[in-house]
Amino acid sequence: MANSFDLTSLLRENIRKLIPYSSARDEFNGEASVLLDANENAYGSPLDQDYNRYPDPLQHQLKLKLSSIKGVPARNIFLGNGSDEAIDILFRAFCRPGIDHVILVPPTYGMYEVSANINDVAIKKVNLTTDFQLDLAGIAEAIDTHTRIIFLCSPNNPTGNSLHREDVETILANFNGLVVIDEAYINYSRQKTFIQELTEYSNLVVLQTLSKAWGLAGLRLGMAFASEEIIEVFNKIKPPYNINQATQELALKALDKVAIVNAWIKEAVDERDKLAKKVLTLSFVQHVYPSDANFILVKTTEPRQLYEYLVDQSIIVRDRSKVALCEGCLRITVGTPTENEVLVEALAKYVQPDYSA
Ligand SMILES: *Cc1c(COP(=O)(O)O)cnc(C)c1O
Repeated sequence: MANSFDLTSLLRENIRKLIPYSSARDEFNGEASVLLDANENAYGSPLDQDYNRYPDPLQHQLKLKLSSIKGVPARNIFLGNGSDEAIDILFRAFCRPGIDHVILVPPTYGMYEVSANINDVAIKKVNLTTDFQLDLAGIAEAIDTHTRIIFLCSPNNPTGNSLHREDVETILANFNGLVVIDEAYINYSRQKTFIQELTEYSNLVVLQTLSKAWGLAGLRLGMAFASEEIIEVFNKIKPPYNINQATQELALKALDKVAIVNAWIKEAVDERDKLAKKVLTLSFVQHVYPSDANFILVKTTEPRQLYEYLVDQSIIVRDRSKVALCEGCLRITVGTPTENEVLVEALAKYVQPDYSA
């Protein structure tokens, strides 16, 4: 590897020196019949199921299950209250406010910028190329000694495409900071995950989530996969009980249902391709970008009017027309076959405003 990545020197000093909170369950986590160490209510909870005990701070059972599904050791997994928690921790651990910066490659997921702003960390933007791929020369130019993290999203939101693998590997091999690859939509993609590259690149962090293909957005469970050293940093900073008991139990149950999820993925991909073809035949649609995700980006002549027309029909899509390189674009999530049909029928009835009048 050509880079000279050194985790300790990237860590903020306050985090390096931090003595983490030690919870009751950290100090004793064996088997015992009388637990009087955590000031819990020993009488029970006012629910059918007992939630009176604090949950496992490191979610061992859930990580073991994920380990077998993802083919990566449990010690390389961090679980967060959504991917958003992992993103926020990366800023807090590695970026000094007012000194360091991160590189973002718009158009991309909005949370990286919001999290940077919350943490008072500067951003350098290097737009994707017009075919939504990485501008490697531009990124190389933007990197300096204060560049801590490069955020990549593949398949990318809102464009839907995967980034070229060789380009991502070029960055991983040459950048001395962290490379975060957000794979929220990986289950819909023809590309394979970067998780298997963790042994190759010590500066790699892969984000995934149960919010999309797994159908569990309401539970809030995000995953980060990285070297053991990086995962230790996450664990040091996270709130002690960041994944609640109900989420741990329900996620564990859900992860047994791989067959249902795989059937949904297949159906969503089929529906996506059908929807893209139908939408492309409409006169006011200029382009439907190829998608590796569960949504399509559609370029139209009048995005705002179309968006508002659909709202009137009780159909909500995402107006992305103000986003860099996405002029005229709406992002449409693939729904059930019935929902997609409702959308296509509504679009077919859309009457373009008459600009000649
Ligand atoms: C939806 C999405 C996520 C999911 O975030 P959670 O906090 O896990 O729900 C992450 N990254 C991208 C790019 C997304 O589109």
